Amino acid sequence: MPRISLALLLAAAAAFAQPPVSGRRVHRLLIHNATVVDGNGTPASGPKDIVIENNLIADVIALDAVSMQRAGGRQQVQADAVIDATGKYVLPGLINAHAHLQEERGGKPQPIEYELDIWLACGITTIRDVGSDTKRALELRRMSAEGQIAAPRIFVYPMFGRPKTADAARAHVRELKQMGADGIKILGIDRDTMEAMEDEAHKLELRIAHHAGVEETNAWDDIRFGTTSIEHWYGIPDAAIPDGVQHFPSTYNYNNETDRFRYAGHLWREADPERLSKVLQAMVDAHVAWDPTLDIYEASRDLQRAQTQPWFHDYLHPVLEEYFRPNPANHGSYFIGWTSSDEVFWKENYRLWMAAVRQFDQKGGLIGMGDDAGFIYQMYGFGLIRGMELHQEAGFHPLKIIQQATGNNARILGQEERLGRVRAGWAADLIVVNGNPLENLKVLYPTGVEEIRNGKAVHTGGVEWTIKDGIPYHAPELMAKVKQMVAEARGVTR
Ligand SMILES: [Zn+2]
Repeated sequence: MPRISLALLLAAAAAFAQPPVSGRRVHRLLIHNATVVDGNGTPASGPKDIVIENNLIADVIALDAVSMQRAGGRQQVQADAVIDATGKYVLPGLINAHAHLQEERGGKPQPIEYELDIWLACGITTIRDVGSDTKRALELRRMSAEGQIAAPRIFVYPMFGRPKTADAARAHVRELKQMGADGIKILGIDRDTMEAMEDEAHKLELRIAHHAGVEETNAWDDIRFGTTSIEHWYGIPDAAIPDGVQHFPSTYNYNNETDRFRYAGHLWREADPERLSKVLQAMVDAHVAWDPTLDIYEASRDLQRAQTQPWFHDYLHPVLEEYFRPNPANHGSYFIGWTSSDEVFWKENYRLWMAAVRQFDQKGGLIGMGDDAGFIYQMYGFGLIRGMELHQEAGFHPLKIIQQATGNNARILGQEERLGRVRAGWAADLIVVNGNPLENLKVLYPTGVEEIRNGKAVHTGGVEWTIKDGIPYHAPELMAKVKQMVAEARGVTR
């Protein structure tokens, strides 16, 4: 029998095997006939078979005619379950480098499954938690690692707080290490305590994520002390303001969030381009990565868009909906009195910010991605995909964007030898996507997209399967559960 028809025969046999049961790991899982986009920026390739054994990628087998000719036909893979990925794209599971585990919003309880299920359904297999209830986050990390809950992998970076002295800062770093933290998140810290805590953290091999805010410290301190990643963007334009101080109006009060977010929209224009270029170069030289979280401030440049996102209809939990409403007591809900002029400033702010992110990349900087959802009209998971769209608006090629959301984030976490690749030996964290994300990143949204096929409108898209640690989750089932959860919660509150 000629080789090619044997291959076709075996391919057909694989297609008849059973798909996995959602939430149940099998000994050997085969993803058959996929087009693969890896997490290292290389082009799409396929068709390929991906063999998963327990929780590892055991093999990635090329099925194209040339590869099969060389291999002498297709090797038969005995699998306990098969996902037919014909016409589908397989990517490494997405990593959300700026996440918050949230079981309440504004003091009202919100079920953790709501957030975890949406993350998985959006293709997120790993999160870096940068501030939540630390003990609970560590417990969820353990339960996720043991496969007891449907959840992404969790890396816990507790919020550091504001120690009074350098000694107290060092002691607190040791205490967090003792608790089992994977890293530390700093926010609103003084320079001397930042220097001490970073020094102690380096000794204990803890990574550091810094949300600078408008503080005493800026990107020069991150460069000097060795921060792993700058979150958002604060501290970067600030480091490039010629006279070293932001030109806020005399009535400005940092603790008034409307003031804070309104005038943040004026900061990028204050940065001197030549100085900014030096700051970005110094970040590259010092290996300070940048996780810009482009999605989280989008409401500032287009409030109506943020307030009317289509997935709110079925999937916005009433507790989160309530939290999003303008309210000075809820962090990030600063929109009372938001004006068209504020939006115009923020649109310019975004243009300059995006240009700086591009420049950082061109200089060789490491760019990651995170959604910071649960604030400012951004829903978990959906926010990360929106962030990917905004990276496209910033000018990045989709291959690079997928790399930023997978391989680069793995690098920021120090997990690049285990996560973020479709490669034998790596963890079996993969997503099977209905459609081509290189053509349209919107196919990643669980709500899907409309396409014209043979003259007819069809609903398609979405992540079909999210495989985390070898456990396959059927994303449409997760979203059906979320929809039910939201409907029931609305029944109680409305
Ligand atoms: Zn955050």
